[in-house]
Amino acid sequence: MANSVTPHLDTLLQHTGVAQFDPAHGAAPVALPSMRTSTVRFQNLDALDRAQAGKARGERSVTYGRVGMETHAALEEVFCQLEGAERAFLASSGLAAVTLAFFSTLNSHDHVLVADCSYGPVRYLDKIVLSRMDIQVSYCRATPAALEAQLRPNTRVLYVESPGSLLFEMLDIPALAAFARQHKLILAVDNTWGSGYIYRPLDLGADISVVAGTKYVGGHSDLMLGAVMAKDPGLIKRINDTHYAMGYSVSADDAWLAIRGARTLPIRMRQSAQSALEVCVFLESRPEVARLYHPALPTDPGHTLWQRDCTGSNGMLAVELKLDNAAARRFVDGLTLFGIGFSWGGFESLVQLVDHGALQVHGYWSRNDNAIVRLHIGLESPADLIADLAQALDRAA
Ligand SMILES: *Cc1c(COP(=O)(O)O)cnc(C)c1O
Repeated sequence: MANSVTPHLDTLLQHTGVAQFDPAHGAAPVALPSMRTSTVRFQNLDALDRAQAGKARGERSVTYGRVGMETHAALEEVFCQLEGAERAFLASSGLAAVTLAFFSTLNSHDHVLVADCSYGPVRYLDKIVLSRMDIQVSYCRATPAALEAQLRPNTRVLYVESPGSLLFEMLDIPALAAFARQHKLILAVDNTWGSGYIYRPLDLGADISVVAGTKYVGGHSDLMLGAVMAKDPGLIKRINDTHYAMGYSVSADDAWLAIRGARTLPIRMRQSAQSALEVCVFLESRPEVARLYHPALPTDPGHTLWQRDCTGSNGMLAVELKLDNAAARRFVDGLTLFGIGFSWGGFESLVQLVDHGALQVHGYWSRNDNAIVRLHIGLESPADLIADLAQALDRAA
């Protein structure tokens, strides 16, 4: 990469985190090996002292196995490329990465504003752990006006997810970043939907980006992993120290799988996005469909923000069906190519019948009796997926 033009992210994702040539024989494997280890050994005490001094300065320095060696460092570089970050910190799941973001930025008696469209388990973290530490949480629509009304003297962090969980409500990250700056809040964004490839909150003014690598980065439904990314040196130090203190750790094999997933992230995400649009066009033609939620669709209320802030889309969509619960259950059970299950971002299509209880807390939801079904469009032929949806809708009627 000797030319002066910055390569496209697609190119960088193939050339980041590769194995170095062995100086003894001038060769290197194309794929970096999984470097499994629980501890490291040093050539002499000077080498150990240098490593410890680097660690004390907050550098990525290995003195013990918990932070991982080359495989982990390579994946951290991949996440930095994806998100435009200076440092990335790995965690054993997306939710563990969320907790790392919270624990790195909040003290007891602090107050945090959370977007009401955030990933459901954040509320469980609040209920089970944050409340015990007297970290106060307010949930509200993530617009500057609504947030302003919830500010307290001890508000420190604004935590959002864009597009939001379940209904893909697009948030105005630049406006939220301006609001956060004005009120001296740290803006943390769950960017699992974009995974850095199609959406970059740090470029749009956020301070922290959190990604569940379990989803599109891993891409094959075979690992759990999360990452927290930042640019600001002060924030990086806080995350680094908290990461070490809390013992967050990832297996080398999972890091290796995530690197392998990242190599094909561009083509997988593009294909899922294109197929999802084809599925949307089909669904729009069906009388059972009341509304579609997919920001890449011109009819989605978030479409203008999506056009401004995103460089692409993915395979996620939700559809509101004019079906009662029993008919909606027949529809979901009638699908043969969609697995009934949570999660997304893998090679396979998935379906989830969304519980209205989970939607109650989303201000974006239009509150009616229609069924909401969330689909992840995988890498199957879109024509087959459409035929499957058509037969299941017919059967539900
Ligand atoms: C899945 C998901 C998480 C949690 O990731 P896990 O690896 O399953 O713990 C967090 N945020 C969002 C938006 C997710 O979709």
